[in-house]
Order: sequence, then structure tokens, then C-alpha cells
Amino acid sequence: MSKNPSNAPFSRRSVLKYMASAAAACPTCMSVASALASGKTEAGHGAAKAAKSGGHDAAHWTYGGDTGPQHWGDLNAGNKVCSLGFQQSPVDLRQAIPASPGQISVDYKPTTLRVVNNGHTIQCNTDPGSTMMLDGDKFRLLQFHFHHPSEHAMDGRRFDMEAHFVHINDAGMLAVLGVFIEPGGENNVLAPVWQHMPPSAGPEKKVSSVKIDPVKLLPVDRNYFRYLGSLTTPPCSEKVIWSVFSQPVQASSAQVGQFAGLFDMNARPLQGLHRRLLLKSG
Ligand SMILES: [Zn+2]
Repeated sequence: MSKNPSNAPFSRRSVLKYMASAAAACPTCMSVASALASGKTEAGHGAAKAAKSGGHDAAHWTYGGDTGPQHWGDLNAGNKVCSLGFQQSPVDLRQAIPASPGQISVDYKPTTLRVVNNGHTIQCNTDPGSTMMLDGDKFRLLQFHFHHPSEHAMDGRRFDMEAHFVHINDAGMLAVLGVFIEPGGENNVLAPVWQHMPPSAGPEKKVSSVKIDPVKLLPVDRNYFRYLGSLTTPPCSEKVIWSVFSQPVQASSAQVGQFAGLFDMNARPLQGLHRRLLLKSG
């Protein structure tokens, strides 16, 4: 045990405090957060529209070619951190420091199915009332969406898919829960989402007759990796408390294939961890 005061960030309180002050210093981040909080965007961390509402002209971006991840930072003045930032996401989850980064306690409620194809992913917007306590701080669930393949990797391995549950607290901080999805049995919670997901980009589709319970998409084992990172889409704002569960959930190969049929590749390349702490619970 070192006497170095830099040990302080290992405590969960100071990690969160550090994160909060970093966000407060970033006006772009806050404009994203306020757009999210006011419900002006369904983007969550697909923040092109959030950037627009923050005064930037949201540029078209993709996962390949001339507007792909290597160029995101140049597409728009508000995207610079995509290429210049040192706290970017996703990362490879390896050599994590065993720690007690705090308990995640989820209180999700069944929500009416409201599914949108925003051109970058399939996203389910959730009804108000689902919350998560993260180290004593309350975050509200806004939406969840999917990536193929997974964005984060574990020891260099990417999973078939990853779900992101995007939350915000009253201070405008974002907290995202990441859930890996591997091929296996059919996923009953995903089934109605897949059944109704629009095949092309367009407005939200509300299916009043269908309720889904998002908590059933989380793994039984709630051990997780924790680090401070960014949106994984432009404008890549560095204001996200990431918690990625180590235990994957399952979906059938047919379900994975159906999503891949719409989004063959919607995962940002891995970003360097640089000097950040990567903690592992349990
Ligand atoms: Zn995502």
C-alpha cells in the first residue's frame, strides 16, 4: 500500500467526484446532458442530435469510410474530443484493479415498447420511473440500445453484441450499464423488440400492447468493470460513468443474425485506456 495521495481516486466517492468535476468543466458535455435531460433527443449517447440542440451542426457520421470513426473528430467542431480525448470509450477490459467501486442497485419498471431505428442502432426509449442507484446517487433510465459486435472487449475478445442502458442524474451526469450478449438460448425480452424494430431509420414506433421489463436483460451476476469514459458516438463527450457487467446474457444466433442484418457493424474501435483506472468489483 503506497502513501502516495494519488491512491485517493481508488475510493469510489472520489472517482465519482472527479467525474462530476470533469463534466462540469466541459460545456459541450453539459449541452449534451441538458438535451438528454429535456428529452429533446432520443440519442442518449448517440449524441449527434444532442450536439445539434447544443448549437452545433450535427454532421453525418458512419462506422466506415470517409465519415467513419477515424474521421469523427474532424466532421464537426463539437466532435474534436473524438480524436483528441484521452478518456474515450470503448476500451478493452483487461488487467482491472480489484476494488469496491460501489453497489449498483437497479429499480427498473416494465415499460411500453417504444422502439426507434435512428440509423445507427435500434433503441428502446423507456417510460419515466426506472432508476438505478449508483453509489448512493440516483440515475434515471432514459433508453437502451444495441451494438454489433460488442463495443467493449474483455481480455481482447469482443462479444457478438452489447446492450447499453443509458441513465442520467439530476446533475446531468450520464451512467451507462453495458451488457455483453453471446449466442445461446433465445432471449424472451428481446423477442418483442426484434419483432417490432423498424428495418430502416425513422420515427419512434410505439407498441402500446407490448410491455417489456428491461431488468430481465441484465445478467444474474452483477459483478462489473468500472471506468470513466465517453459517449461511443459523436460528439464522444467524456462524461460517462461506465459499468460493464462481466457476465454476458444470451440471445439466439437467429436473433443476433437478425440484428446484424440491419446493423452489420455499429461498434466503435477500442480506445486507449491511457492513465485511467479500470476497476473490477467482486
Ligand atoms: Zn451504445
